[in-house]
Amino acid sequence: MDPKQQAHYRQLLTRMQYELENKDAIKAEPMRNDDVTPVEEDVQPYVEMEQSIASSRNLKLACSIDDIRHALQVLRESPDDYGYCEECDEPIEERRLELMPYVRLCVSCQQKEEERAAVYAAGGRKYAGDFIDE
Ligand SMILES: [Zn+2]
Repeated sequence: MDPKQQAHYRQLLTRMQYELENKDAIKAEPMRNDDVTPVEEDVQPYVEMEQSIASSRNLKLACSIDDIRHALQVLRESPDDYGYCEECDEPIEERRLELMPYVRLCVSCQQKEEERAAVYAAGGRKYAGDFIDE
């Protein structure tokens, strides 16, 4: 990967990190409505729904901000390693990096990883079942 591409991905990552970090600041914003208009009762379920959507979204975002920080660190400390799969050292597809510049694994390693997780989950259920039979 040439330095121009590295700069491009660093820019993408920096923007993503900025957006993720500022979501937390936006979250506190609805509070300012409290002293202007009292919350009507029929509005409440909608507000709760909004809050649960926001919190599940934040949870998902929290998972990838570490990946984004990690990717930025790689670009800063050893830029030549950026864009390669951490598992098999093969270059990660550009289209994949464009969508998820923080990704650590290539498509085939990611699939293997997911299969392992699925097998593990299935195994976990099976053991639970055996335990109940006894
Ligand atoms: Zn790989």
